[in-house]
Amino acid sequence: MKTTVLKFGGTSLADSNQIKKAADIVRSDPARRFVVASAPGKRFDDDIKVTDLLLDCYNKAYQGADFESSLMEVKTRFEEIIGDLEILFDIDPEIDLIRRNLKNYPSRSYAASRGEYLNSKILAAYLGYNFVDPYYCIKFRAGGELDSKATYSALIKVLSGMPNAVIAGFYGSGPDGNIITFSRGGSDITGSLVAKAVGADLYENWTDVSGLLAADPRIIENPRVVEYISYRELRTLSYMGATVLHADALLPVNQAEIPVNIRNTNRPEDRGTMIVSDLPKEREKHTITGVAGRKGLSVIQVEKIMVSDGAGFTAIILDIFKNLGVPFEQCLTGIDTVTLIVRSDYFSTYKDELLKAIEEQLEPDLLVVRENLAMIAVVGESDADYQGSTVAILGAVSDKGIELNTINQGGGSLNLIIGVNEKDYEEAIKAIYNSIQR
Ligand code: ASP
Repeated sequence: MKTTVLKFGGTSLADSNQIKKAADIVRSDPARRFVVASAPGKRFDDDIKVTDLLLDCYNKAYQGADFESSLMEVKTRFEEIIGDLEILFDIDPEIDLIRRNLKNYPSRSYAASRGEYLNSKILAAYLGYNFVDPYYCIKFRAGGELDSKATYSALIKVLSGMPNAVIAGFYGSGPDGNIITFSRGGSDITGSLVAKAVGADLYENWTDVSGLLAADPRIIENPRVVEYISYRELRTLSYMGATVLHADALLPVNQAEIPVNIRNTNRPEDRGTMIVSDLPKEREKHTITGVAGRKGLSVIQVEKIMVSDGAGFTAIILDIFKNLGVPFEQCLTGIDTVTLIVRSDYFSTYKDELLKAIEEQLEPDLLVVRENLAMIAVVGESDADYQGSTVAILGAVSDKGIELNTINQGGGSLNLIIGVNEKDYEEAIKAIYNSIQR
């Protein structure tokens, strides 16, 4: 039998109505056996996530202040859910325990984790599924990083004998028995780990959007939803700022080549976006998969005759950056030039030291700095005519009179990163998006 692991985000489980939708989705397919749940998120725009209410309890407890009113808000959220779902679930002892623990021994991670813990227990009771506390199977090292080996073996041990389960997202435990959480939004990672551990055929990530958009909707009106995207393409786009999933979440499923389907709990009829290792042949006939970008970058161009004579010129430049602790985003090399693209906030902090060191150590023929730049990435692995597309994209941008500062083309498929002035960013995205909608 096929196995699907589902993860529902905070908005998908924000109240009883949403939980009912999620449960209908789970019940509609017997392959949907393992469910990872977030804490109740926002029900409306200026609502407060249960995780934030709990963090508020912790902050007050830590300062020795009274946190009862925030804790009562948490209790009320869960009471409403339990009442509407008509399940037998006694919330009082749970809230009493949280109160006691926070008073005696305030722990930030413990507090933050209780939303997932309670919501998952409730969802398990409603579905008639087993409840699994990740305290026993998501394992962290003392430093706070995930212990993958211990985690997989614990997950396999716990889940292999179960026909189904709801597993709380976002947290686990460290070697000293303390609760440790992932960074915010980390239930995506739990879902991905569970999918790999049980050898899932599919990892469904249920959220409140119908998939990844091919471009930023603040710039492009109604961009199309991407039907298929490769892990590699997604990494490029997320790096450039397109986010639907917690970035680290893809690693486990990517390694195990498990496809990920991003779906909308409020529109289960939409197919969403499939993230796959290899794009299917019958993939939609769009030239590109997507376009994304970000502002706030600077370019440092160093020119010297004989850069490429093997004298280690590039290595010296990279060393200068490394020694000052300034990370760079891209390094482009030409016959006599090296161009580094750096985040402007880092660059402005170390500008004088960097330029001085380059001048002194390399005595360049030319040293040019350009600030206030934006980078735009365009990806499309399945594009057979990627060269033609590259020309079309560059043509579309320059036809608008937009100056191209840098061009970086990865080999083999459409993977183009261009640098434009920040002021031209939106216009360039529009030109690119329109040029590739064939
Ligand atoms: N509830 C946590 C948060 O608000 C984790 C999650 O939703 O994935 O960040």
